[in-house]
Amino acid sequence: MSWENNVRRVVPYVAGEQPKKANVIKLNTNECPYPPAPEVAAILHQFDYDSLRKYPDQNVSDLVAALAEYHGLSKQQVFVGVGSDDVLSMAFMTFFNSDKPILFPDITYSFYDVWAELHRIPYQCQPLDDNFCIVKKDYLIENGGIVLANPNAPTGNVTNMSVLEEIIQANQESVVIMDEAYVDFGGESCVPLIEKYENLLVVQTFSKSRSMAGMRIGYAMGSEKLIKYLNDVKFSFNSYTINTVTIAAGVASVKNKAYFQEIVGKVIATRERVKVELARLGFACTDSKTNFIFASHKTVPAKELFEALRAQEIYVRYWNKPRIHNYLRISIGTEKEMDSLLCFLENYLGECGELQ
Ligand SMILES: *Cc1c(COP(=O)(O)O)cnc(C)c1O
Repeated sequence: MSWENNVRRVVPYVAGEQPKKANVIKLNTNECPYPPAPEVAAILHQFDYDSLRKYPDQNVSDLVAALAEYHGLSKQQVFVGVGSDDVLSMAFMTFFNSDKPILFPDITYSFYDVWAELHRIPYQCQPLDDNFCIVKKDYLIENGGIVLANPNAPTGNVTNMSVLEEIIQANQESVVIMDEAYVDFGGESCVPLIEKYENLLVVQTFSKSRSMAGMRIGYAMGSEKLIKYLNDVKFSFNSYTINTVTIAAGVASVKNKAYFQEIVGKVIATRERVKVELARLGFACTDSKTNFIFASHKTVPAKELFEALRAQEIYVRYWNKPRIHNYLRISIGTEKEMDSLLCFLENYLGECGELQ
């Protein structure tokens, strides 16, 4: 016998590399290449350090109020957590307590199966079709809950709103979590469905479209009942999840709508340009509505390209997994960063004799 028999053993999620060196081109974790809103910098510069003596507001009231106003919801319909990873993990623990399996696609955010294992939730992965689309009937079966990323990751494509609504409507006996980490880059949000369906929880994040991955802010929106249950679990775990600085910085970001729209617009414009350029170089890309491109070259294996790029300190994401082992996930960087990527690929493929 050993104490190790009683350890909760988990295989952790593996995030993209965060290289220590400066001056690398980092297109591997879907961060935004532009800085947060200028008001966020102002908050940090003028912060009243003495206020840190005190615990933060455990209700995160100012940020909840700002987000509720932004999305046209009541304050009782918003829950804030330490990045959407924290919110999603908490939601799994709170809402997925059935003996029936929860459902999510075979190709999706690879944290879902990790949380299911961690919280000992049975789960079943439903294969996407050959175009990486959700097969609706796979979600019209008995289940203990559903989690879908829309737009999906790492594929980048969106599911039609009418399909999503049918899935939510048909599953009123379980909670449906919609992970909208990328929705600001051209997807359609399920937030308007919240008033119709008490079982719908929509999760968004400041990490991608708000350029604040380092600040760790994520949030959930749903019926007052769902949000109350989430808060009950949070206050049974750790009441002070969001620190005082983060609350103020988060509010500052939400208040500047014009800046938000400007940088999201820039990322979208770059994405569309790079898609065209990649097609010219022989890549097929999914119809991404996110801040990344999921691309496969017609002849050169993704693993080879991944390694060649990495040797030049251009970091993209590659998974040696079934069905997606010939794809690269390339985050959208600045115009200049994307030019460097395209220039390298053009030379590399030219030398391989893949371009005439
Ligand atoms: C990035 C990402 C998240 C988590 O982001 P946080 O930084 O924890 O807010 C959640 N879901 C998907 C699909 C993501 O890509």
